[in-house]
Amino acid sequence: MGSCIFCGGGNSKEHIVAEWLIRDCDLYKTKFRMGFSQENARGEMDSISQPQPLSGFYTIDVCGTCNNGWMSELEGKAKKILCPLLQITWPTNDKELFQSLFLNSGVIARWLLKTACTFGAKMSVEVMEQIRRDIYADVVPVGIIVDMAYDDEFGHYMAMSRQWNVWKDEKIISMQVGKQSFRLTWQVRHLVMRVHYFPGCEMTMTKPRFPVRIYPKFGISPDYVENGITKRSYHYKTLEQLEHETCYACHDFVLK
Ligand SMILES: [Zn+2]
Repeated sequence: MGSCIFCGGGNSKEHIVAEWLIRDCDLYKTKFRMGFSQENARGEMDSISQPQPLSGFYTIDVCGTCNNGWMSELEGKAKKILCPLLQITWPTNDKELFQSLFLNSGVIARWLLKTACTFGAKMSVEVMEQIRRDIYADVVPVGIIVDMAYDDEFGHYMAMSRQWNVWKDEKIISMQVGKQSFRLTWQVRHLVMRVHYFPGCEMTMTKPRFPVRIYPKFGISPDYVENGITKRSYHYKTLEQLEHETCYACHDFVLK
């Protein structure tokens, strides 16, 4: 056993996915696909293991003080804020609900980042120590991007990745970037939540659709028209569509 990934102290068992989420969304038996957050040649998201329930999914890399203190406080806040978007039936006033996240964007960013740290520790895709220390100090580090989208396909998925779609020589290539980057992609029911950290690169989308940007600069892209039909910018048919359309423009030094 190592020490707490946040404060460096002793450790205890912590649910990677909060008990309120498992309870409120009735996820006890729901099996999550877990993967690399990367499409394979068949256009599906890669899985690294058999789908498994998150109720038995713990990390021992967190101490009791962190777990019962700031982490539990953060869970309480996140629960209140996100519940309306975690229903079986997607709410019709989703734009209003997303808009209301604006005032709590920092809380959501910390909460998802915390989850990226604990899930990453479990999956051996570790979040850098400096970032873990920052969250512990109540700071969201520069370079963290958080976004959310609606997936028409109901499902459960959780993945940490260091693989990115990058513009290079006027085409998009898929590349692995060492230990200084990570992305958590997490779907619960119809809501997809993502945390990106890819310093030196700028995220962009290849189609008129854009997820809701939660952090750092909150924004919802305007509706777009496709075949005469007005659509929400953050509505996706599948998780694959969202991930496939996400790409990054990088400064040269990152790719060297
Ligand atoms: Zn701790």
